[in-house]
Amino acid sequence: MSENTNTGTLPVQEFEYKAEMKQLLDLIVHSLYTHPEIYLRELISNASDALSKVRFNALTDQEIIDREAALAIRISIDPKELTFVIEDSGVGMTEEELIANLGTVAKSGTLGFMQALKEQQKELDGNLIGQFGVGFYSVFMVTDEVTVETRSARPDSDGYRWRSSGQGTYTIEKIDKAERGTKISFKLKETSKEFAEEYRVEQIVKKYSNFVDFPIYLGEKQLNSITALWQRSKSELKDEEVNEFYKFIANDYQDPLDYLPVSVEGMVTFKALLFLPTEAPPEMLYRQGDLENRGPQLYVKKVLIQQECRDLLPEYLRFIAGVVDTEDLSLNVSREIVQSSPVMAKIRQILTGKILGWFETLAQEQPEKFKTFYKAFGPVIKIGLNTDFTNRDKLIELLRFESTKTEVDEYVTLKEYSERMGADQKEIYYHSGSSRAQLLAHPNLEYFQKMGIEVLLLSDPVDVFVIPSIHEYDKKPLKSIEKADIDFSSQKKDAAEPLAENLLKPILQLFRETLGEGIEDVIESHRLVSSPVTLVSGKNGIDSQMEKMMKMMKSDLPPGKRILEVNTSHPIIRNLAGMYMANEHNPLIRTAMKQLYEGALLLEGGLDSTTEFLSRMNELIEAATLSR
Ligand code: ADP
Repeated sequence: MSENTNTGTLPVQEFEYKAEMKQLLDLIVHSLYTHPEIYLRELISNASDALSKVRFNALTDQEIIDREAALAIRISIDPKELTFVIEDSGVGMTEEELIANLGTVAKSGTLGFMQALKEQQKELDGNLIGQFGVGFYSVFMVTDEVTVETRSARPDSDGYRWRSSGQGTYTIEKIDKAERGTKISFKLKETSKEFAEEYRVEQIVKKYSNFVDFPIYLGEKQLNSITALWQRSKSELKDEEVNEFYKFIANDYQDPLDYLPVSVEGMVTFKALLFLPTEAPPEMLYRQGDLENRGPQLYVKKVLIQQECRDLLPEYLRFIAGVVDTEDLSLNVSREIVQSSPVMAKIRQILTGKILGWFETLAQEQPEKFKTFYKAFGPVIKIGLNTDFTNRDKLIELLRFESTKTEVDEYVTLKEYSERMGADQKEIYYHSGSSRAQLLAHPNLEYFQKMGIEVLLLSDPVDVFVIPSIHEYDKKPLKSIEKADIDFSSQKKDAAEPLAENLLKPILQLFRETLGEGIEDVIESHRLVSSPVTLVSGKNGIDSQMEKMMKMMKSDLPPGKRILEVNTSHPIIRNLAGMYMANEHNPLIRTAMKQLYEGALLLEGGLDSTTEFLSRMNELIEAATLSR
């Protein structure tokens, strides 16, 4: 095999894979692969990680063997024998690590991977493999048996040989291995013989791994160009390469939506390459914006210090992936020091500004991309509004809303709204509810629609917490159209005459008596056009949608009292007034009033029980059919 020999004193030990592992290997070996070439990307990625670790250990003065060894990845192939060998001088593995890393399903992600395969009945392609980090095993796509020889960089380590044909068992034996690091060798299957061809290996390395930070040699020839991507200027970056880099560091299977190279010199010096994912990471969806454990990678003088550095960005921006590399921190700083360092605070501040500027540029120059971004990450911007007060103004500009003047799936900014509102309009109006359709059907909109006044339609549940906190934009107060103190004096009454004052008063009073405690007041409406009544909030009351949200969180909240507005030009109200004049004790009047009120509640989703509503409805139908 090689210069390494079994020491003879220890037997070859055989181990069995755990059950899930067998399933996984079976899938990999027997499924159809669309991209077997990615096995090489995975092996290089593992080697590169191992080299990063050893470089970090060396620089932080940890004890390691072969301190002077060159950090490199070496590939050798034999097109006649179809052998393939990839070797690195990285951290290597101890026996325990071998068992833990290559013998068990270490990651919960792996099980998720199998689940996804089953559910989607997808072909096992390279993208899926990369996404779930089952990297190493992808080698079984191109070979029937793999040998891993490894020696840990820890002092006093021994060498080990791991061997498996991916059939349920693997063996481990102790060997003499002179240098630290890992050597993986195998014979390619006849169907995969292309991977023993020099041009093919070079092609794959260039495609997937050109950015790897350590030299990759094929024989004597170095295949990659190792200037770290984030050290290059924008013009030296190729989309394809940058996209591969993103997938490599972010464990994403999709291309990023966009990327941003950053280079800063001055108070602090750093370079960064940041990525906007195309889709929100899963924890953002199921834990509502919780990006606790994310963040870009932190490099110090080109050495990877932290995989997911939380301190580089404020929490709401931690969905941004990438690399930040600075000269201004010392290599052997501890996590705690990194956290509290003024350098970090400065970098965070600069990056936040750059990122928000980047979003703004996207919005201006690539509106379609921005839309995709906003759909996935809009909620994050809103969270930022309530947490990042220094950048509040910038974040407000990024907000997008549907409105009564936008088509479905189109958005307006506060700026656009405020620029196109009429000269005599003093306020920015919004209306919140559960969906666009429900909002558009609401009677409170009638006046605004009739007068051609734009109203923002807020159907994202977070909106009711965010929007009221903005208070005003461009000196124009933001106001819920539910508020009772909107000035409708410009409303010109046409068609039907409103009720005369002497009838109006007793009718409103009867409404009050009939509805009793449940309601704050009953007043004449100036906003209604075609509906008889509607509910609004008092001057200091909260928006109904907000109340609904608060109730969801704290169920014993007493219901806020609403104001019932009555459209005194509406035929129903006029008829009720007529009935009242004829016989003020007619019970039908009160039944109708209760029904109108509960109908308004029902429309807003605020009617708790429909029992009485329905029996009253039958009573009214009976009365209506009786006279025929
Ligand atoms: P992943 O790379 O996503 O962790 P893999 O299945 O590819 O998953 O590898 C499992 C683990 O085996 C790695 O996390 C690493 O600890 C170890 N490993 C794999 N290859 C090497 C290597 N060349 N040198 C050192 N450790 C390695």
